[in-house]
Amino acid sequence: MASLDRIRTHGFRRWYERQLIECHAWLVSWFLGVIVLVSGVEIAGPGGGSRMGGVGLIVGGLAVTLYSWMRYRLLLEIAERLGEQAACPSCAAYAKFSIEASGPNPMPDGGDPALENHGGGIWLRALCRKCGGRWVLK
Ligand SMILES: [Zn+2]
Repeated sequence: MASLDRIRTHGFRRWYERQLIECHAWLVSWFLGVIVLVSGVEIAGPGGGSRMGGVGLIVGGLAVTLYSWMRYRLLLEIAERLGEQAACPSCAAYAKFSIEASGPNPMPDGGDPALENHGGGIWLRALCRKCGGRWVLK
């Protein structure tokens, strides 16, 4: 996962910040999709210009709206889930860890079924840079 590689190279804080920026860019594109969708309804309706053009805008706006909303929710949920677990359980240092291993696959000891639906079973094995403690973010 390219996104998770950014945690290794830039650190968790920068990854988290970028993740939030990216997911809010998807929120902006969702809003633009809503504008296109409403414009299509206006154009296709009675007294509007071209019915076919309006239907095209409705379909395009709907596709952009749905896809953007799914991306926004997914990226935000992954960022929030990993962010909640970014504190070392031993010394409580926040986001001061390096990644020993990661995967898009479920953990060998059986994954959380909720992860399969949201985020593709992302997990990270973290090593605290402060105290050397190890834990898994999933
Ligand atoms: Zn620690």
